[in-house]
Amino acid sequence: MSAENTTTAWAGVANGKPLTKMELTLKQWDDDSVNLDVTHCGICGSDVHTLDEGWGPTDFPCVVGHEIAGVVTKVGKNVTNVKVGDRAGVGAQSGACHKCEMCLDGQENVCQGGIVYTYSSKWPSGDKSLGGYADKWRGDYRFVFKIPDNITNEIAATFFCAGITTFAPLSRANIIPGKSVVGIMGIGGLGHFGVQFAKGMGAKVVAISQSERKRDVAKELGCDDYINAQNKEDMEKHDSTLTHILCTGNGPDFQWRTYFALMKPNGHFINVSAPDWDFPGMNAFDLLSKQIHISGSGIGAPKEMEKMLQFAADKNIKPWIQKYKMDDVNQAIKDFRAGKPRFRYVLVN
Ligand SMILES: [Zn+2]
Ligand SMILES: [Zn+2]
Repeated sequence: MSAENTTTAWAGVANGKPLTKMELTLKQWDDDSVNLDVTHCGICGSDVHTLDEGWGPTDFPCVVGHEIAGVVTKVGKNVTNVKVGDRAGVGAQSGACHKCEMCLDGQENVCQGGIVYTYSSKWPSGDKSLGGYADKWRGDYRFVFKIPDNITNEIAATFFCAGITTFAPLSRANIIPGKSVVGIMGIGGLGHFGVQFAKGMGAKVVAISQSERKRDVAKELGCDDYINAQNKEDMEKHDSTLTHILCTGNGPDFQWRTYFALMKPNGHFINVSAPDWDFPGMNAFDLLSKQIHISGSGIGAPKEMEKMLQFAADKNIKPWIQKYKMDDVNQAIKDFRAGKPRFRYVLVN
């Protein structure tokens, strides 16, 4: 284990190069700081995308990983929500300004004064933020969340990005038990959480995919029905039936019209996917004739994180995970790239 102010991390060193184990210095300690011994870290598509510089240049060395679960080892004077020995986790956001209108309203995930992301970002001190492919993490207590007693760390880890990304928008979407019909586009790491949360909220849930490949697994996850968007019969059967679509993934050939056709009037199309290409244009009549609402959502606010963890604990929501040793991270990433996760990989220290 590394010394007090350093972490032993698996860092990206250059685009296309394997991750390399190295010692890096943690951010400066302050009264808001929490130290975690990382026990688990999920692998998110964002990690791989950042290492590949898919959204823009990456400042290497870069320690990715923002589905962190661990044990608190030290807390600063201002820390009120966790204590030494608590099991706790961290998601994609590690800091905010705490002064802007959004922060003051408890929507720190859309802070306008300076978000610190868990990696590929800088603290106000100028220190680089370092993610969870490491033995230690240090950051702001306001983005550290206690893990409920009935959720283990290995299960908890992936809630902190994939979980909150799908839970937060669904929890804001006025889902009515027994009445709402939620389509989940993309049955993968995010989508498999979306299915479980929407079911937990009492909706009827329909998986939407582009082939027959996920039909069986969608059923296993608890979906009530399945739409292969390439299948005319499926599209006709579900025409104008969905109150919500949660888009967790789509392809560059994505067409709005296909999905608007599935929606009931006044339906909500909620996008949480983050592709590196632009969405196509849409026909204005397709949008207005059904009074479709389109919205986006990114991660979630701290209060939503707490709500999600409680919801998951109460409803026994469980991600499907496969574990890799932290030291096997390069193999895990290789398998991730090959599209093998069913549905989330978790690195274990
Ligand atoms: Zn993520
Ligand atoms: Zn702010």
